[in-house]
Amino acid sequence: MSVKKTVFGAAFAATALAGFSAQAQEVNVYSLRQPFLVEPLFDAFTEETGIKVNVIFAENGLVERIKQEGANSPADLLLSVDIGRIQDAVDAGVTAPVQSDVLSANIPTHLRDDNGQWFGLTQRGRAIYASKERVAPGEITSYEELADPKWKGKICTRSGTHVYNVALVASMIAHHGYEDAKIWLEGLKANLAQKPQGNDRGQVKAIMEGVCDLALANTYYYGAMLANEEQRAWAESANLVFPNQADRGMSMNISGVSLIASAPNKDNAVKLIEFLSDDKAQHIYADLNNEYPVKPGVEWSDTVKAWGEFKADDLSLTQLAALRSDAIRMIDEVGYNE
Ligand code: FE
Repeated sequence: MSVKKTVFGAAFAATALAGFSAQAQEVNVYSLRQPFLVEPLFDAFTEETGIKVNVIFAENGLVERIKQEGANSPADLLLSVDIGRIQDAVDAGVTAPVQSDVLSANIPTHLRDDNGQWFGLTQRGRAIYASKERVAPGEITSYEELADPKWKGKICTRSGTHVYNVALVASMIAHHGYEDAKIWLEGLKANLAQKPQGNDRGQVKAIMEGVCDLALANTYYYGAMLANEEQRAWAESANLVFPNQADRGMSMNISGVSLIASAPNKDNAVKLIEFLSDDKAQHIYADLNNEYPVKPGVEWSDTVKAWGEFKADDLSLTQLAALRSDAIRMIDEVGYNE
């Protein structure tokens, strides 16, 4: 059995959805995640249940699309990345709550919405990458230390308003309060080697090039760079540092899933979410992107195992999501991107 793929772009035609309707034994997924990450999971689900999975892939615009489609939307599920984008879908009113004992048992409370509007399926850390040549092991151990003047001109990050950094700033507000978090962010901004630019991997490349000594980037990029011939040297120029191991742990974020309010195949959709939260899919899904399972006890991939265990911050992502607008305001107030 294979997954039927419907990839659409600007010139999306209505005919592409032929057969993409509410029939028995199928489920329609709108995915902001790439095909290679989710197709193996959907194949396994179809094999186990006989339920066909139809997928629309896009890099953005799916929430807007669901809104436009309204009550006639074929979408049952939205697969997304980062609590910021996931919460945006909830705020847009396109999601619906799911109550499921399976999901309550499999997914820790801090990685799912209190009201069941979204569920984390994989997790990743916001790590510090430190130059092997210029930063001694143990010289940087926490996010707080990124504001230490000793790092003046030595830190690289992407845009402050990117969802990954907004989430980190929101976590700092959650742990320290707005005023102290702002002093920290001003300190970090003062230590930047250059204007925020590029993506996460670009910051690690900048370490290799000697532009900076420290960078912020998600954990899975370490694996992605090591697996890429051109980028391996970038990763090998840096040590992956898990921040705040002596206290609250590394700041975590998720990829996740939401049920769509107008879902025509709701029962099948809930079955698919439950399947994705269980051991087999958890291992496959996390492994494919060098992420971590959300379900406790599921075996990690060999790649992330090699990086070692770590303490993860168990801050509720519901609470973090609620602080995003404060974080965006703060990033603007300190002129982080200027
Ligand atoms: Fe990413």
